[in-house]
Amino acid sequence: MYKQSMKELLGESHTSMQHKLKRVILFKIARECGSDKCYKCSYPIVRPEDITIEHKISWRQGDTKEKCQELFWATDNIAFSHRWCNTPDTITGTNKNGYIGVYSHTNKNTSTGKVWYRATLGSNKKKTKISVGYYDTKKQAAMARDMGVIRHWGCGVLNFPDKFEWYKEQLELWPNHKDWKDVLKNVE
Ligand SMILES: [Zn+2]
Repeated sequence: MYKQSMKELLGESHTSMQHKLKRVILFKIARECGSDKCYKCSYPIVRPEDITIEHKISWRQGDTKEKCQELFWATDNIAFSHRWCNTPDTITGTNKNGYIGVYSHTNKNTSTGKVWYRATLGSNKKKTKISVGYYDTKKQAAMARDMGVIRHWGCGVLNFPDKFEWYKEQLELWPNHKDWKDVLKNVE
């Protein structure tokens, strides 16, 4: 019997190691059941550290407390997703303008009061917010945000999932672009 504390033996606290172990088990079982495809982006989940539990219908969408609890616990409402694809509705929900990760921004320094659309990914809360430029239209910003998601995270929920292949082609053509203003300038 070792005399060291659990932390000394495991390298991290027992709680945090138990948490990791649960994830490894979840990943193993998901894989064995053929449920290791991400519910959001449908790409495979390949590492235990990436797997998260996803509610297919957000449990917050219930119109009563009972309905919320029912959605929360319903095992047929559970799927798995990548941790970067599983973002709570409150953080990466669609904005008022209809797109994910797009914010309108009025330039106060100009008399014209021109509105720019800022494309971002990640969240302020988790301190992972990345800006991928300002665009003339919200659609351009929404597409730039999608390209940012693919460039930085590999995959994720997209504003225009059907453009995935086109995005990848553009990213291969312009690997060093920090934003895609010139690539997207002709998008209506
Ligand atoms: Zn995914």
